[in-house]
Amino acid sequence: VLVREIGALYRAFAAGEPSPLSDLPVQYSDYAVWQRQMLDGDGLRTQRDYWRGQLGGRLPTLELPLDRPRPTKRSAAGGHEVFELPAELGEGLKALGRREGATVFMTLLAAFQVLLHRVSGQDDVAVGSPISGRNRSELEGLVGLFVNTLVLRADLSGDPSFKELLLRVREVALGAYANQDVPFEKLVLDLRPERRPDLTPLFQTMFVLQNAPLPSLGLPGLALEPLSFERGTARFDLTLFLWDGPRGLIGVLEYAKDVFDAATARRLLSAFRRVLEAVVADPDGRLSRITLLDADERRRLLVEANATVAEYPRAALAHQLFEAQAERTPDAAAVSADAEVLTFRGLDRRANQLARRLRAFGVGPDVVVGLCLARSPDIVAAVLGVLKAGGAYLPLDPEYPLDRLRFMVEDARVRVLLTESALGSLFDASGAARLFRLDVEGADLAAESDGPLPTEAEAANLAYIIYTSGSTGRPKGAMITHQGLVNYLSWATPTYVGAGGRGAPVHSSIGFDLTVTSLFCPLLAGQGVRLVPSTEGLVASLQANSDFSLVKITPAHLELLRQQLSPEQARGGSRAFVIGGEALVGESLAFWREHAPALRLINEYGPTETVVGCCVYELPPGAVPHGRVPIGAPIANTQLYVLDRHMEPVLQGAVGELYVGGDGVARGYWNRPDLTAERFVPDSFSDRPGARLYRTGDLVRYRGEAGLEYLGRTDDQVKVRGFRIELGEIEAALVAHPGVEASAVMVKDLSSSSDRQLVAHVVFGREQPTITELRRFLKESLPSHMVPTAFVVLDALPLNENGKVNRQALAGLGGRVEAGEAYVPPRTVMEIFVAGVWQEALGLDRVGLHDNFFDLGGHSLLSIRVLAQVEERVGRGLGPRDLIFQTLEQFAATCEERMKVRP
Ligand code: AMP
Ligand code: MG
Repeated sequence: VLVREIGALYRAFAAGEPSPLSDLPVQYSDYAVWQRQMLDGDGLRTQRDYWRGQLGGRLPTLELPLDRPRPTKRSAAGGHEVFELPAELGEGLKALGRREGATVFMTLLAAFQVLLHRVSGQDDVAVGSPISGRNRSELEGLVGLFVNTLVLRADLSGDPSFKELLLRVREVALGAYANQDVPFEKLVLDLRPERRPDLTPLFQTMFVLQNAPLPSLGLPGLALEPLSFERGTARFDLTLFLWDGPRGLIGVLEYAKDVFDAATARRLLSAFRRVLEAVVADPDGRLSRITLLDADERRRLLVEANATVAEYPRAALAHQLFEAQAERTPDAAAVSADAEVLTFRGLDRRANQLARRLRAFGVGPDVVVGLCLARSPDIVAAVLGVLKAGGAYLPLDPEYPLDRLRFMVEDARVRVLLTESALGSLFDASGAARLFRLDVEGADLAAESDGPLPTEAEAANLAYIIYTSGSTGRPKGAMITHQGLVNYLSWATPTYVGAGGRGAPVHSSIGFDLTVTSLFCPLLAGQGVRLVPSTEGLVASLQANSDFSLVKITPAHLELLRQQLSPEQARGGSRAFVIGGEALVGESLAFWREHAPALRLINEYGPTETVVGCCVYELPPGAVPHGRVPIGAPIANTQLYVLDRHMEPVLQGAVGELYVGGDGVARGYWNRPDLTAERFVPDSFSDRPGARLYRTGDLVRYRGEAGLEYLGRTDDQVKVRGFRIELGEIEAALVAHPGVEASAVMVKDLSSSSDRQLVAHVVFGREQPTITELRRFLKESLPSHMVPTAFVVLDALPLNENGKVNRQALAGLGGRVEAGEAYVPPRTVMEIFVAGVWQEALGLDRVGLHDNFFDLGGHSLLSIRVLAQVEERVGRGLGPRDLIFQTLEQFAATCEERMKVRP
């Protein structure tokens, strides 16, 4: 309108003539009054109802492939990328739209929503779009703002074809036009979406199509030229502007510089073009079949990022690597515990003798030997002995409940169970296995020859089986081969164990594969390992400035060490911390960077199913990053793929599920073909016959140079202090109690520390167990780290529309967090003080006199902290034993006693 009028006026005035324009029938103020009247009255009620129906509830945030985390407050800085589509493509789209009864706008919008859906992996995609608002002829000539913003929300669920989607988009667009009079600002007021300074409300991307052709403006005596598009601002994360002009479709993608780089905008545009080409070529094809990546990008992500081929002794068995080292350094100390020391030669011979005996029991390739032993040099000899015999070891933690140990022994069809008399009684009843008590039956092992044994197993045979929590209530055993183990060790040993330092502390159970690193890597480098009985032992040995070359820990251990070590102690000690098992945040590393600048800090990621670690990131020197520490890049002979739910690679930077391929992939789950088929899938990117990928359930994305970043899970698996837990397994254990009708377990971050706790929500039936009884019941089948700390008793679990437990609603539920014993309030000053310390540490509302710290879910890491806090007040040393079998009342009394004693 304006362009036309300016032209008319210019021409008239240039020729000395009066204005040719006629008077306006109404003014903008008339329009404003009219709009206000309409909004005040009931006029828009049905329209507002329409929008409430369309957009009510929680609208998902569109998860775009951001190049960096959102700043806490968004700025308006923007960049743009221009593009042009070939005329035939534009024509093809229009023809497709016409055939389906859709406008050009609807067709292009649908295609843009396909792009957003494919890039985000989300099915619910809301996009904003301006509408001119001049829907009456009287308004056409007016100067003023009539534009409104419509929110167009597409449902892309069910992997439709483009044609099917077009029908959905058409209906949404028609509905929106019919209800276009509600101003966007009013809509926001009506819907009250959560307002966040880092996000625009209701939608994060906008789509603008300008299809009324600009009138050509020929003015006498002037040459006119359009100016290029440059605003330097961005109102939304992304805005796609398209012009349907005489030369075809041209466009601009405007992006928020807060979160995007130009390269990403260009990638998005090229993906958009691929969407357009694909839907024109095959409008009936499923949207999931569209490939967003061009051949170059595909090669970069699938091949180049995974070019990890490295030599290693492919045919070797893990214990042979040890044997070779034992020959090189026979007299060096291999294992020490307290005063006991075994040399490499001694360890090798002992393992040979045990292996001979095991062979006599029928142990050979893929035969499983259970190891239920306290941490002593014997356990190292036993691990090696099983491998030398050709068998696979199954770690059995003596701390685990009997039921669980028996389950694993039976499930794994353990042939021989290596244990000691103190623990042997645990298994008397499990008939399947032959019990071999190392301290009794092992006494005459010295009679066996201690020379090397001929090898029976091959690299494809099993080295160990480790059970992890199972979502259906039944733990599952990952079967690790020698090949996988040898590949990991061949890579990890030279990478982690440098020239300096002396060995590593082994402080964790061999039931967790992180112990593989601390146990094998030093041995294969000719260094000794020091067995320490517990986490306290780890703390003490680092406090003693032991010059370890390698310390393998979880982020929870790291936090504990930070609390317990002085800056001098931090500086004095180890050469490398390999931190794994759980997400690592930069802030937790600041202390070490400051006080131990020479210490290498390495974030290692890896599921048990792919041998300890398959992806690592070593922090570069200098400042530590804020927030998430990347997990980096694949280790040797490992491929990592970030795929969408149809197993197609996602655009670089987009969120996808991590799949792991290569030599480390386990053979599957022992005796669980169904579960194996679900999680170990054919590797379609490999040309190796039979190659498989392990499907991790971890959400990740590429983040520039640093490689991958871990974002979370696709399921209900959680990590608590590095322990891998399926919430479903705890829930199954809970409902196995006759008094429990329903349950939902969650993890809660404790505000007082970086710790997390398990919270069980339970619905009781007619018979109501006490919390103490329930806890006791759980302890019969679950390891202590899986027993919830807190219990919330509910009348019913909140459900969502599809009848599933609404976890979000659960998280928001208050309800008293019940601890354990019938509540008796603390009375004395000391009792009240101690109760406060416990409550804070455990994240409980209250703790009574008869409660026991460990029964409430306290664990050794926490107890160290609690004891330190109480010691400060008591002024005397306290030990873990003071806490273990004591109630709050007894513990407080002990503290009072200590205070009375003179130092
Ligand atoms: P596990 O089998 O006990 O080693 O547990 C494997 C799971 O722990 C992975 O699938 C991840 O969810 C998580 N995980 C392990 N290492 C890391 C890490 N460095 N950063 C983030 N998550 C991790
Ligand atoms: Mg792991």
